[in-house]
Amino acid sequence: MISQDIVEWGKPLQQAVRETPTPKGTEVLVKVKFCGVCHSDVHIRDGYFDLGGGRKFQMSERGMRLPITMGHEPFGTVLSGGPEAGELPIGEDRLVYPWTGCGQCDRCLEGIDNWCPAPRYIGVQTAGGYADHVVVPHSRYLIDASGIDPRFAPILACSGLTTYSAASKLMPCKPTDWIVIMGAGGLGLMAVAMLKAMGHEHIAVCEIDESKWSAARDMGALETFNPLHDDTQRKLQALPGGVWGVIDLVGAQSTANLGIAALRKGGRYVVVGLFGGEIPVSLVTMAQRAITIQGSYVGSLQELREVVVLAQSGKLKHIPTSTCSMDQISDVLDRLKAGTVLGRVVAQV
Ligand SMILES: [Zn+2]
Ligand SMILES: [Zn+2]
Repeated sequence: MISQDIVEWGKPLQQAVRETPTPKGTEVLVKVKFCGVCHSDVHIRDGYFDLGGGRKFQMSERGMRLPITMGHEPFGTVLSGGPEAGELPIGEDRLVYPWTGCGQCDRCLEGIDNWCPAPRYIGVQTAGGYADHVVVPHSRYLIDASGIDPRFAPILACSGLTTYSAASKLMPCKPTDWIVIMGAGGLGLMAVAMLKAMGHEHIAVCEIDESKWSAARDMGALETFNPLHDDTQRKLQALPGGVWGVIDLVGAQSTANLGIAALRKGGRYVVVGLFGGEIPVSLVTMAQRAITIQGSYVGSLQELREVVVLAQSGKLKHIPTSTCSMDQISDVLDRLKAGTVLGRVVAQV
């Protein structure tokens, strides 16, 4: 099999050729057709996430060993299974749920594998989809996404699921309660599309790159703001009825401060983005304004099934998507780092 691997932290990916794995136990071997190229792989390739205050989350200390194949948005054809894999849809295409855990703890047994304390995420701790084959630990992580464009389906497993899970943390609310999305990159556009598909109406977007505003409006955003402008906080606070919820897909000190300040009383700020940084929070103000500050990380297997149903219903507008070849993935990561990608890129294997 051929893969694009991290061989050295912070360096371009390198092509590797090795023997195609044989699935063991309950494992399933999938022939990859498409795999989304995700912005979080920029950080993973660098080898760390910035935790703020000069501290770093080192991938090497979190179960990642080099060389490793990234790619947590694989979509492909089921080829074979291990001796305990049971009945499999051999020859059929499936979307892979990548946020797998140990498979044995309470969280995993509840289907909230993404909250497992011992993650075994596909494309992070285990070999992923920047390859022509990927091993999935169990057939329950394979989702039938028939009816969805296979170039679009892969991104449901990460940006689709991530935005759905974050948006769900603001539900229930009225469709006319203002929800503000921080960032109009691939995740931001997906968040707007997801909220629209969930029936939400009043969506605003904050994005410093004003060339991305029209794409955000195309997806359904009614208002767009530049978070660097001095009057943006005042304008957000002046939205009719106030801001009920913020989904921060950047996760920087500046977006967090703006998002939390914009909330009306009782509002909720959900941070998803991993740009990095930290904020001081006034506990008195937090109590008096009765606001919620919550984190959201990818989503559960059940939530991905719900996202797929939403996409199959035709309600989920497709964000701009382009394709690249496997050997262009490293360049795409460079472009993602530079912020010059509109929408999402999916590698065609
Ligand atoms: Zn991702
Ligand atoms: Zn577990």
